[in-house]
Amino acid sequence: MTPRPRRVMSGTRPTGRLHLGHLVGALSQWVEFQRTGETFIEIADLHALTTAFDRTGDIADSIRELFLDLVAAGIDPKRTTLYVQSHVPQISEMHLLLSMIVPVAWLQRVPTFKDQINELGGEVATYGFLGYPLMQLVDIAVMRGDTVPVGKDQLSHLEFGREVVRRFNHLYGPTLVEPQATLSEFPDVPGTDGRKMSKSYGNTIDIADDEETTTKKVRASITDPLKVRRHDPGRPEICPIFKYHELANVPRVPAIAAECRSGALGCVDCKTECAEALNLFMRPVRERRSAINPSTIPAILEEGAEKARAVASATLADVKTAMKL
Ligand code: SF4
Repeated sequence: MTPRPRRVMSGTRPTGRLHLGHLVGALSQWVEFQRTGETFIEIADLHALTTAFDRTGDIADSIRELFLDLVAAGIDPKRTTLYVQSHVPQISEMHLLLSMIVPVAWLQRVPTFKDQINELGGEVATYGFLGYPLMQLVDIAVMRGDTVPVGKDQLSHLEFGREVVRRFNHLYGPTLVEPQATLSEFPDVPGTDGRKMSKSYGNTIDIADDEETTTKKVRASITDPLKVRRHDPGRPEICPIFKYHELANVPRVPAIAAECRSGALGCVDCKTECAEALNLFMRPVRERRSAINPSTIPAILEEGAEKARAVASATLADVKTAMKL
């Protein structure tokens, strides 16, 4: 029997626009996975509810924007099963069934839960939020995903999920696939304020930005604070602009580093060149984005959901049979 190709499962919450950090990180990896195996990408709107349950009015728009960003970045809905989580009700049903076997203490010890509770002072201490690592596991398990791209900080989530699968299979017989992590090492992309690029910091260069906006953001970006005048020597290694050159202006990197250090290059000129390079780098993605006819999105997502529901129904049926339901 020919072995089934690996099935990669991943997803993202529709909570804002995707940016340069995503483009050179997870998105480029997903595009690569799509070339070499079966890929399922979920637009996780139910996960968005765990923290945005009081702002549901934005979710439909966010799903559309996310779809545009994903497809612009190269996700091809003909090759990748791309769907909205809430369009696959089997996920919710399986989440309920599996919730019966998960000790609360397992969920409470997931580090992100503890971090969020500390950070937000209990604002998100809902029943749904506590259970979101389980829903993540169900997202994977219901699609029989065997390969999950994760960063080091998410390994504990996946380990939690693997424990749940082992417990289920131990209680009811071998039914679910234990997913494996594939560690992703993405380039560290700083935002324009020098912190990690993140929509919550308002320091992003978005896929959906136009070129003028990108140029403005680059101009306003911080640089090496000790390089005050043009001829002051700079430290490219601490400057976000230099990082963007490394991503989008590769052949010029050695010269820019040397000229920054020697003081031959001023930040204004460096930023002008950087903005041009970034715009050139992102132009094909942005052109693909603006070429998508938004009226086609619901039908494409429905097609993805149909494929996802077929896989999910079969898994759910196995789970119910195993549980004698
Ligand atoms: S010259 Fe360029 S790399 Fe050097 S500090 Fe200024 S903006 Fe950054």
